[in-house]
Amino acid sequence: MSVQAVAVKMAEVELKDVAGKDSLPAISPLTPKAEEKKSENNSTSSPAAAAAAGDPSPVTAAPNPVKMPQASAMKRPDQQQNGGEAFVNCDGTVAEAPRMKKIQFADQKQEFNKRPTKISRRSLSRSISQSSTDSYSSAASYTDSSDDETSPRDKQQKNSKGNGDFCIKNIKQADFGRREIEIAEQEMPALMALRKRAQGEKPLAGAKIVGCTHITAQTAVLMETLSALGAQCRWAACNIYSTQNEVAAALAEGGFSVFAWKGESEDDFWWCIDRCVNVEGWQPNMILDDGGDLTHWIYKKYPNMFKKIKGIVEESVTGVHRLYQLSKAGKLCVPAMNVNDSVTKQKFDNLYCCRESILDGLKRTTDVMFGGKQVVICGYGEVGKGCCAALKAMGSIVYVTEIDPICALQACMDGFRLVKLTEVIRQVDIVITCTGNKNVVVREYMDRMKNGCIVCNMGHSNTEIDVASLRTPELTWERVRSQVDHVIWPDGKRIVLLAEGRLLNLSCSTVPTFVLSITATTQALALIELYNAPEGRYKQDVYLLPKKMDEYVASLHLPTFDAHLTELSDEQAKYLGLNKNGPFKPNYYRY
Ligand code: NAD
Repeated sequence: MSVQAVAVKMAEVELKDVAGKDSLPAISPLTPKAEEKKSENNSTSSPAAAAAAGDPSPVTAAPNPVKMPQASAMKRPDQQQNGGEAFVNCDGTVAEAPRMKKIQFADQKQEFNKRPTKISRRSLSRSISQSSTDSYSSAASYTDSSDDETSPRDKQQKNSKGNGDFCIKNIKQADFGRREIEIAEQEMPALMALRKRAQGEKPLAGAKIVGCTHITAQTAVLMETLSALGAQCRWAACNIYSTQNEVAAALAEGGFSVFAWKGESEDDFWWCIDRCVNVEGWQPNMILDDGGDLTHWIYKKYPNMFKKIKGIVEESVTGVHRLYQLSKAGKLCVPAMNVNDSVTKQKFDNLYCCRESILDGLKRTTDVMFGGKQVVICGYGEVGKGCCAALKAMGSIVYVTEIDPICALQACMDGFRLVKLTEVIRQVDIVITCTGNKNVVVREYMDRMKNGCIVCNMGHSNTEIDVASLRTPELTWERVRSQVDHVIWPDGKRIVLLAEGRLLNLSCSTVPTFVLSITATTQALALIELYNAPEGRYKQDVYLLPKKMDEYVASLHLPTFDAHLTELSDEQAKYLGLNKNGPFKPNYYRY
């Protein structure tokens, strides 16, 4: 693949007084063509020049006035920025980085009338959308209405205004869901600031956004922000387990057309997506996707509708990979934004989210005390680093396994013992996989674990622990709590398997709202940009958000910490060859 950087102009979104003053200037997504030219000229292939190619408009970190940068979006080159790299094969061809796994599209179903029975519907339940679990959800819904066995598809529900254009578990949970949303709002400052500023101007007026993401309180804050910005939204869940039913109810009560509930079957999943899309008199013009299922559905089933879409914003590694596949095949007829590879996504979601949620997931499921426990963490990437830091801080003795000498050296320098799994497997109390790989913990290792060893996974899919190898006649499985199984050997030894080897934090705990705020803000800005971009600014391809946009999203979150950013003096800016307003780092900078 060729490595090509295409500089384009991002919309100018001027957001002053992010700290939340009352006078709210316009959000103006307009960029004159002449400025576009200037930006193109500014963008150069030299990293130093790229770093200096920022817009001269002042960007001051909050709480001072913040001006949205006019930055250059870059098509993701194969040599990815943000640290991800392409791999050169022996034959000289360049391959995608391994974390971009090849994903088979789920079988599509168009007929929904052959509905499964309740029992078979439940047995069908599995995560069909291999949507990136790099995107988060508060998977734990506090109101589990599993006692109500009636499928939402069999219910006729209406909200208090008589609107019935939704399909959720129980509209009566709306008040509870509203409280959940209000709690999330407290930790999503940038979205709330965007919402305030939209009171005068509506940069998404006329946008008809169809979305497919985890339906959680945090997503609700995003949806309500998009609506405040002028958009109409119809939404389905990207994961059959992650919907917070009470939040879906609050959204439906608020007039959103939501089609989602916790514990959908595969058939339900596609039915919900179709109900979002296939509606008389409503043609979506924007897609916000997490995992690519919605995009793929429209692409396959409604090609004419697909052609009229103005832009796609995709959050997950899986969905982004699908978009690149489409683009490579010359079949992507819509510009798309890759939010997944934004620095503020990768460096914050993966590291900080896991640093907090690993403890939460372990504690909720096992009540384990961490101090003095021996823990082995497989993989010292972003997720592994977060898990290691958290457990070390709790007084655990942490071992690390790695295949990459650079990450291995980092682990050593951070004070962790680098070992082979086989060296410590007999003695450890907790085993955590974070590699994104397969068969990292196999039966042979589990045979050698000590009694009571906790085994769990924080990686994308349930391939890291060979759970299938535990389903043999000599082993007994005992479900001791929701998502907690004891697997018992003939001699009485038992291991504690969490979430059947699926992502621990997404399956068994919540994740920090503040981290989701960062990703959600990026999504909102990407939607504004794509929707308002003048004809021709974006071609039919996949674009990365520019570093200036990443910096801007970060700056919007600084006031929460009463953080005070230092400004470059003219002299310093000249000395470093930077624009005073950013971007402050070249694209290859790894943070
Ligand atoms: P990463 O690529 O930065 O790190 C993975 C590390 O595992 C790499 O350093 C790699 O060298 C190492 N590795 C690979 N195979 C190994 C093996 N057999 N033994 C030991 N080490 C091995 O990726 P990341 O950002 O840390 O993400 C890791 C996984 O977690 C991915 O699947 C990602 O999708 C997922 N993820 C989960 C969450 C969550 O909330 N749980 C959040 C973000 C990402």
